[in-house]
Amino acid sequence: MTSDAAPSNTAGAVTDLVPLLPDELAALLAEAGEPPYRGRQVFAWVHARRATSIDAMTDLPKALRAWLGTRCLVSRIEPVEVLSSADGTRKLLFDDGAGGLYNSVIMPSPDRVTLCISSQVGCRMACGFCLTGCMRFRRNLTAAEIAGQVLAAARILDAEGAVPEPAHREAERIRSGSQERGAGRSERSWNLRDATVGVPATPEPPGGARRSGTGAGPAPGGPQPGRTRPAHVSNVVFMGMGEPLDNFDEVVRAVRLITHREGLRVAPRRTTVSTVGLLPEMRRFLEAGTGASLALSLCATTDEVRSRVVPASRRYPLDAVVDALRGMPLPHGHSYTIEYQLIPGVGASVEDARRLSRMLSLFPNKVNLIPFNPWPGAPFREPTPAEVEAFRAVLAEKHHRVTVRWSRGRDIGAACGQLGGGERRGPEGGETR
Ligand code: SF4
Repeated sequence: MTSDAAPSNTAGAVTDLVPLLPDELAALLAEAGEPPYRGRQVFAWVHARRATSIDAMTDLPKALRAWLGTRCLVSRIEPVEVLSSADGTRKLLFDDGAGGLYNSVIMPSPDRVTLCISSQVGCRMACGFCLTGCMRFRRNLTAAEIAGQVLAAARILDAEGAVPEPAHREAERIRSGSQERGAGRSERSWNLRDATVGVPATPEPPGGARRSGTGAGPAPGGPQPGRTRPAHVSNVVFMGMGEPLDNFDEVVRAVRLITHREGLRVAPRRTTVSTVGLLPEMRRFLEAGTGASLALSLCATTDEVRSRVVPASRRYPLDAVVDALRGMPLPHGHSYTIEYQLIPGVGASVEDARRLSRMLSLFPNKVNLIPFNPWPGAPFREPTPAEVEAFRAVLAEKHHRVTVRWSRGRDIGAACGQLGGGERRGPEGGETR
């Protein structure tokens, strides 16, 4: 890990600027006699312009930079390793500074770049289908480390520069005659207010996964000729290591940082916090008013099976979860996302699909079916395509909004449920699996 400081808000008497929101920065800078707008200015430097030092904030008065330099720093995390999948997915491994590792996964697709991030090193929930759940819990990540994962991914995408525009968009532009209007606009003239669309689809050599040092630098082959636009992190999902709502305050702060209009500008509705179903914290999260979406992770349709595979769920039986979801006021237009792990022998039968359908009819939702991704030593097998389709068909027949999410990055251990590597091992710092 590269870090300018301890990732907490203060390191000794030195304050880290990364986890502070504009109002908090303004209050800090008021001590130097600065006007309130400086808070937004410094926030934008850190989160929108990715400054990694106070010296880089060149439009601040020299005296203010000197004042900040004696009291503050900009923490930075960088991956110690980047694994690249044949399907364009990249897994970033971060060193937590105490022998632990945590992960993020960049998943490009034609109209977005989704980043899956971690909120803890290890996890206390011990879900049986998840490699992280088999590790010991090490610690909560700080808001600076959580938002820092998004900043690190953004820096990688920044360094790669513009990427080819999707062919269909290029064709649309030509058809609409808008090509001329856009001509002459340099790649660098795009800024965060432009549409957040990314198409990195990093060209990979045939033959699968690729390792690199830090992932910074241009994609192999570099941007293609023709019309281009920059790649940005457009969607963030808290589905990496850890139960986000078990690290409530830091996660809420991180969501506010990531979604802030003066910063990374990830849309709140494109930011999803996934939980095994910690009901009190789900209520608190909705009350916090971040605007982010909540997803509920399920893998079974009876309490007996669910509590066996997800021990933390014993406190919140399915009836209580459904009642709570019916009763909790959602922001206008929102629905819950159900991330349903399809695990043969646990909750992947047609009978399970029927029970799930009855539950789903009671509150607003959409369902993602996630076929189980095996890992070495996993006690379950992955479902066959026929089993997945049979389950999906039952839900579709009942008019539920259902999508099968075949995980990406399986060849680099980046698929859903495969994230581990909580402890560094040996001089190479390889994963624990
Ligand atoms: S699925 Fe999520 S909550 Fe369960 S053990 Fe894995 S990381 Fe923790």
